[in-house]
Amino acid sequence: MSDLLVRGGRLVTSTGVQRADIRCRDGRIVEIGSDLEPSGERVFDADGALVFPGIIDPHLHFALVAGPHRTADDFASGSAAALAGGVTTFIDFAHQRAGQRLEQAVDQRLEEARLSRADYSLHVIVTDISRGQLAELPALTRRGFTSAKVYTTYRDAGFYCDDYTILQLMAAGAEAGWIVMVHCENDAIVEGTRARFVQEGKTDFSYHARSRPAVAEVETVQRMILFARETGCPTYLVHLSVGESARLVAAAREQGVPVVGETCPHFLVADESVYATDRAARFIHTPPLRTAEDQRVLWEALSRGWLQVVASDHCGYTLRQRTDYADITRVAPGIPGTEMVLPLMFTYGVAAGRLELPQLAQLCCERPARAFGLYPRKGAVAVGADADLVIYDPEPRREIRDEDVRSAAGYTPYAGMDVQGRVVATVLRGEVVYDGRDVLVPPGHGQLIPRSPVRPAELP
Ligand SMILES: [Zn+2]
Repeated sequence: MSDLLVRGGRLVTSTGVQRADIRCRDGRIVEIGSDLEPSGERVFDADGALVFPGIIDPHLHFALVAGPHRTADDFASGSAAALAGGVTTFIDFAHQRAGQRLEQAVDQRLEEARLSRADYSLHVIVTDISRGQLAELPALTRRGFTSAKVYTTYRDAGFYCDDYTILQLMAAGAEAGWIVMVHCENDAIVEGTRARFVQEGKTDFSYHARSRPAVAEVETVQRMILFARETGCPTYLVHLSVGESARLVAAAREQGVPVVGETCPHFLVADESVYATDRAARFIHTPPLRTAEDQRVLWEALSRGWLQVVASDHCGYTLRQRTDYADITRVAPGIPGTEMVLPLMFTYGVAAGRLELPQLAQLCCERPARAFGLYPRKGAVAVGADADLVIYDPEPRREIRDEDVRSAAGYTPYAGMDVQGRVVATVLRGEVVYDGRDVLVPPGHGQLIPRSPVRPAELP
């Protein structure tokens, strides 16, 4: 089943676009060339469609529990949505509870992640190193886990990590070959602003953006760049929403600081004016949407290479889980989106003239694979790599509709927007796992992919 010949497509790699056939055997790519003849494989006729490397979504949250809220998506439904969007590999999170060993957190989370239909790995959310947990990094590295995540806010949800802990983690990470991801929002600024808004009765969704101001992100981005420079630890700043953050990342990289910046489709196709409309409940995520000018700078940042990666930050809560608690202090933030990354980036990036096709392969395939130790097995169409492909018909235009999404969230923030093109097939390790209509593999089909250590010189 994993022997396949994909013929007649236009192959998009991080360096160019070319007509090429791709022969896959035993789950790997064994030959790339023109006019390849079948030798016993199943033939897939791509017929002029675009062929991308499988999308890597290095930032999403399936089966997420935050206080009384649980996402509708578990690993089975979430990974089905991922495959339908051309995402062949994702990295979710193992949340270390206070007092827990890191490996304990990973092993618990793997029990849930086993349901995945797509290939996967986990980042370790580190919250407590008071019992010598940093000594576990080498053992986790040997098991193929080489990334941590910290939050600089969210005390109530048990995510918050103080500066000294982050510095120690980064120092240990630099030694162990780990990359540390950071959710950048200054806790005191966010909590202070929100407390004042509560006092003033300003808690409906129209206050969401103002309750988490841009300065909270920019301050923390600066601080984390300082920590990355100080420790030499590869540092990955997630979901950057402010144009100034992108400029800071670019300037730091120029000086050789090992930092990588990520943004998300929602910051690129919507802005804070949404919060004054009846679509506000669809965009309750943190950080919030920013100004149209921030959005313009973020696109520029992707095209100029100031930011390196686009990821979904998918959280599959239902719309009811927003509208039933129409209050920014009671709602669990997060929006679904892994299946929309490719169509949105193609439509509003490539088709709109903001990005070239190879840049899309850089942002959504090669660079996330490099940043997280998956490359060259994942993230590239190359001989020897896993045969993970997305076949994308760039022609059809359609309106995005809630009823068409595969996520158990049952809605998409982008309903009503137009997209160009659609995924006609997703290939995972040489097997067609989505045929443009149905996801063809059961829960548990995905494999846990061991990842390599990450060194500053190898960062994208
Ligand atoms: Zn996230």
